Amino acid sequence: MEILIKNLSKIFKGDPKKSIEDTIAVDNVTIDMKDNELVGILGPSGCGKSTTLYMIAGLKEPSNGEIWFDNEEVTNLASEKRGIGFVFQNYALYPHMNVYKNISFPLTNLKVEAYKKENKIESLVLENKLLENIKELNEVIISSSIKNKISKERAILFLIDKYIISPSFAKRLYSYKLFLIEDNTLLNNRVKEIKEDNLKEIENIKEKYLRKDIKIDEEFYLVDRNNERIKERRRLSKDEIDLMVREVARLVQIEDQLDKKPKELSGGQQQRVAIARALVKKPRVLLLDEPLSNLDARLRIKTREEIKRIQKETGITTVFVTHDQEEAMSICDEIVVMNQGKVMQSGKPIDIYKNPNNLFVAKFLGTPPINVFKGLIKEDGIYVDNEKVSSLKNNDYINKEVYVGIRPEGFILNENDEDLGISLRVKEITLNGKDTTLTLEHDSFLGEEIKIVVDSDLALSIATYRFKVKENKMFVFDKESEERISIE
Ligand code: ATP
Repeated sequence: MEILIKNLSKIFKGDPKKSIEDTIAVDNVTIDMKDNELVGILGPSGCGKSTTLYMIAGLKEPSNGEIWFDNEEVTNLASEKRGIGFVFQNYALYPHMNVYKNISFPLTNLKVEAYKKENKIESLVLENKLLENIKELNEVIISSSIKNKISKERAILFLIDKYIISPSFAKRLYSYKLFLIEDNTLLNNRVKEIKEDNLKEIENIKEKYLRKDIKIDEEFYLVDRNNERIKERRRLSKDEIDLMVREVARLVQIEDQLDKKPKELSGGQQQRVAIARALVKKPRVLLLDEPLSNLDARLRIKTREEIKRIQKETGITTVFVTHDQEEAMSICDEIVVMNQGKVMQSGKPIDIYKNPNNLFVAKFLGTPPINVFKGLIKEDGIYVDNEKVSSLKNNDYINKEVYVGIRPEGFILNENDEDLGISLRVKEITLNGKDTTLTLEHDSFLGEEIKIVVDSDLALSIATYRFKVKENKMFVFDKESEERISIE
């Protein structure tokens, strides 16, 4: 589903008596989030990203603007009617409930408008199908045994997992005790008998419906005399809930933790439970507010890959809020960079990295960050101090000071070029395998230390070197507006 936000704003009212001013948390934001994509809202603390997410969720009311889910305007629709799944920063699991209950909780009182189905016939047909491969069925039950002893509970769980069936169906399959019949002829006769009984039962149920002029279609839905499927509004059955909980638990890979309480799980597992709970109602959109912030560095990387996989498997449009640019760049299809309530730029991570619109975005994306120098545009090119770093220029900026940003991978060691280059003093050399990170200094540099990445084959020492600058890794910005200016 597509999410469209149009001119969205949120102003938190201040209190003049206490001299607290209004806060413009979100300022005229327009974003188009495409169907089936993972979108990251990225920005520093306080930039308005969570407020934007809460407004999409319907948990905060916009001061201005519109929110659309496909062709439906949801700006004033109650949160519970929007079809969203929300994962909070701190998971917000119920500590006294086990994982199964935590996940099933949103379903317990849920009323659904659904087509009426004849579940009994469906399970009898499926049962006959499974009985056709009685060897496999018995093997599943026998494989659940521990020390040659078969426990009913374990066997039923094995059946549920293998065939994705409800507990009551699994219990029935087990209750035939077919795995105890050793003689093949006896076994086949017994299977035949059960299948015939099932067919008879199916016919009996169908007949009862026919008397009421109702038929059952090939997918086991009830259809009226006009061949329309019959609808009903009802609670989900225990079996339906069980199927949904297990399906989503499998998706997030916590199917073997269902009996545990949240405190018995790791942070990563708790996060999976929170995601499962948000997904179990099959939402139209999944919203995640800094979902990885409580995890340690290693788990963050693993869990972010998991979120990407789950999003791709379900195809649910997912919005992910984070202040960590690396996280957003690594998993998002699209990112929206925000600052002070405004969208600074949006697009594919790589496009934004290669083409930042302004200094803020250039500085916010990339590790190590971009190196920014004070520069000057002259008739014959761009200068940093008295060195010419490029012959490109912008004629509207002749003799004007600018900011020159150069990505860490934009420097080539080149001591012999008389014409172009920048001289930098090496302070520290860190080998990271294929690459080497150099920490350097320069009088016109605008931050603490310059970081550049070069090939490890270069033999460098603590000294001053002259580097050539790759023109596609260099961006020039207006000193006042900090917007990017073109150079050619
Ligand atoms: P963080 O990463 O720190 O969570 P954020 O980018 O998600 O930050 P928001 O929580 O959206 O930022 O807050 C945006 C601005 O709105 C901040 O200046 C914040 O102080 C302010 N703000 C948020 N909620 C309220 C509120 N209920 N009342 C007043 N101001 C608020």
